[in-house]
Amino acid sequence: MSKLVIVGTVAFDAIETPFGKTDKILGGAATYIGLAASHFNIDAAAVSVVGGDFPQKYLDLLSNRNIDISGIEIVKDGKTFFWSGRYHNDMNSRDTLVTELNTLENFNPVVPENYRDAEIVMLGNLHPIVQSSVLDQMVTKPKLVILDTMNFWMDIALNDLHNVMKRVDVITINDEEARQLTGEYSLVVAARKIQTMGPKYVVIKKGEHGALLFHNDAMFYAPALPLEEVFDPTGAGDTFAGGFAGYIAKTGDTSFENMKKAVIYGSTLASFSVEKFGTERMESLKSEDVHNRLLQFKQLTQFDINLS
Ligand code: AMP
Repeated sequence: MSKLVIVGTVAFDAIETPFGKTDKILGGAATYIGLAASHFNIDAAAVSVVGGDFPQKYLDLLSNRNIDISGIEIVKDGKTFFWSGRYHNDMNSRDTLVTELNTLENFNPVVPENYRDAEIVMLGNLHPIVQSSVLDQMVTKPKLVILDTMNFWMDIALNDLHNVMKRVDVITINDEEARQLTGEYSLVVAARKIQTMGPKYVVIKKGEHGALLFHNDAMFYAPALPLEEVFDPTGAGDTFAGGFAGYIAKTGDTSFENMKKAVIYGSTLASFSVEKFGTERMESLKSEDVHNRLLQFKQLTQFDINLS
């Protein structure tokens, strides 16, 4: 088992989907990643920042799941990062309505002393300079660094993003962002181009159409579980990343073969996250639910074909 460091936002979100609308609820990349990774019973720590307006019960939610929160700074007179988004009818695309960085603007992450030798580092969606500064604090070279990012950072900090990309092994990115980053429409060509930018493993998330894993000329595809109802896709990408990183940390195996399984775990956990608004479904998720859905996943993708 390896130690896992998670960096990302811990946030308030306000979400609109065709099914309804929420007030400010718990959100943030590190929150979703932490909730997903906690299913692997690993030694994990979250590094983030919140304001004095952030309820203690939300922090307790992570620590009750064995996520070390000593690296979550609380700025007493500051406000927590706030994001608001509205989904289109197809639920695969959304508009960002508000991004208030607040305490994130002057955030200097501090990795807790006892996690600076973590083997696995999950750089959740954040300013690429903040992501880089987490890597600077590691006292031993991590076995695997995974980076997640989004179009927001491509728009305002592209050079910094390129710098951090040179320092990571895996990138998880959605299809539109892969196209924006490379200027290529074909995801196969985009993934090849991204591999020349740093990460040797590229995961392209395609929402309800699953996820692709690329490494050199090898490619692996995991569908998303077809669900009757998708309530709120917010955090699906982060939940996927948390499942991926958590599984790698648990197994300590960073081979391509094992990453395929990590993609399946990521997709499975993400399929729960979208069933309710915000983090609600991930909060009630039991390991037997995960097990049963993995069986469903296996049935969905397995077939016997005689090719002789
Ligand atoms: P996802 O749906 O996986 O892309 O992630 C949604 C989460 O990302 C929400 O809970 C937001 O709080 C968080 N988020 C939105 N915009 C940003 C941003 N620019 N930087 C970091 N986190 C963000």
